[in-house]
Amino acid sequence: LTRRVRIRVTFSSDDRNRSYEILIRDRILDELIEGTLPLPNANSFIIVTDANVNKLYGSKLLKGLSGVTKAGLVSFPAGEANKNIETAWKVASELSRLGADRRSVVIALGGGVVGDLAGFVASIYKRGVDYLQIPTTLLAQVDSSIGGKTGVDAPWGKNQLGTFHQPKGVFIDPRTLLTLPPHEILNGVAEIAKCAIVADREMFSQLSKLTKFDSDIPRKFIVRACRIKARIVSEDEKETNLRVVLNYGHTVGHAIESSSNFRLRHGMCVTLGMMAESWIALTMNLLQRTDFEKQFELLRRLYRYSSVNLPILNKETLFKFALTDKKTDSLTVRMSLPREIGKMYTTADGNYRVPVSKEIFDGSIDYLRKALSNG
Ligand code: ADP
Ligand code: ZN
Repeated sequence: LTRRVRIRVTFSSDDRNRSYEILIRDRILDELIEGTLPLPNANSFIIVTDANVNKLYGSKLLKGLSGVTKAGLVSFPAGEANKNIETAWKVASELSRLGADRRSVVIALGGGVVGDLAGFVASIYKRGVDYLQIPTTLLAQVDSSIGGKTGVDAPWGKNQLGTFHQPKGVFIDPRTLLTLPPHEILNGVAEIAKCAIVADREMFSQLSKLTKFDSDIPRKFIVRACRIKARIVSEDEKETNLRVVLNYGHTVGHAIESSSNFRLRHGMCVTLGMMAESWIALTMNLLQRTDFEKQFELLRRLYRYSSVNLPILNKETLFKFALTDKKTDSLTVRMSLPREIGKMYTTADGNYRVPVSKEIFDGSIDYLRKALSNG
């Protein structure tokens, strides 16, 4: 990928001030380090990163930025377990110690954990400062760095404290994937598969034809996923309706993730979640069997490829977590479900959130367990 791909995220509902660009290009991080890519005006830049990414890229970027502007760096221990309010507090304290003011810009350099947490802190520090995203995992590049959702996890569920705060720019360097462990690549492929099932049948069949899922994943999948996400977020920033389609697989997926105490990777949970939710769509007669099977086959392949053990799937626990999902109101679990590969279902009144009964929810967990335990 030598040409730089530009994708614009715009918000028709208000001023154009908040619109921003996603730039995708190999070595774009090197361009930032070397100072050949212009950054916005700011009093200072504070890189927020985790310990792993710091070692690989953080100190290099800090050195590069320090040559041309005032710059600082805050690092916290890696892992979803640290995406909590205590870490947010520490990062904010560090920003203050480094003298960050309202005209400072936060640079989120890392995976989804860094992006969500740094974005969250940026949204509340002195009532909000600007931030840039430099996602370094596949998952963050195709999903979490775009769209302005920020937040931290709480003991009662994932992303339970958060804000909408759009970044001023997203810089995607697919070369950073070369250092990423294989299971982290798979984690991102799950969100690419989700995008394809939600909005792009052609992309789905291309993805199904891949024989391996590694850091050489064709760049066109990253670009397409970003385009899909940018389009949906531009249309429905605050998730009043359409944006929930990106939550496909996530009602059951987040429940599995929360009940595993975040030991399972998000992408694997979403893969399992899409398997359960596609069964629900089939059982509710929203989705045809052929499209169910095509989709299930790819998802099962991703699951096997990951060689993780099937987690304990307790229906009561999962249902309890599903009820804390943000799509849920009162006592009804709602999901976003496919009507065919590439199209999501809406109720008669145009709602992408479909109510699902406890019986069908339970049935999907039984199905999942059966489908995955016998090989
Ligand atoms: P996600 O992006 O899936 O939300 P994390 O932000 O937790 O996940 O990142 C997953 C792991 O990969 C973390 O341990 C993080 O430090 C590490 N990591 C992130 N980017 C890279 C990279 N480019 N190379 C190597 N390791 C990375
Ligand atoms: Zn996700």
